[in-house]
Amino acid sequence: MWTLIHQICSRNATNLHIPWIPGHCGIAGNDEADHLANQGQIEDQREVEIDLKTAKAVSKRHVLDTSRNTPTPHSRQRGRSVATRVVLTQLRCNGESPILQKYLYDIGASPSDACLQCGQSPEDLHHALYNCPEVDFFQSLIPGDPMESLWESPVEMIEFLRVSQRLPIA
Ligand SMILES: [Zn+2]
Repeated sequence: MWTLIHQICSRNATNLHIPWIPGHCGIAGNDEADHLANQGQIEDQREVEIDLKTAKAVSKRHVLDTSRNTPTPHSRQRGRSVATRVVLTQLRCNGESPILQKYLYDIGASPSDACLQCGQSPEDLHHALYNCPEVDFFQSLIPGDPMESLWESPVEMIEFLRVSQRLPIA
């Protein structure tokens, strides 16, 4: 799919911005896609022919999904579940994460972009990492500049997000 998107954009000299959006929160196109995917999933697919390449890809994905959803003692200990890694990646993508009110407001999933902890607007990535008075106390957990720590000190950053109650995962 990514190859196809890249080819289409290259052919038409187009830049394409693909944002991450949360599921199951009333976004019309997303809800429709989810509905159609669920509809397709319950249909009898035993007679649908697939090529060997697709069968291999489906098998590989199933094994990866199964192993990813089973945290190892090591990953659990360090608080780096798939969900926390997703949040970290979203924050690295200019803060396009549903843990930030500005992002939820921008996509129409929240009526306000105000920080739920201090009430200031907007609660964007800069606010969450630098300006929120509710996180001052915890900033000593981050070894350097918060923005750089998103990349260079992920374990400390996850701990910072967890204790400052921005991470929805225990
Ligand atoms: Zn705040």
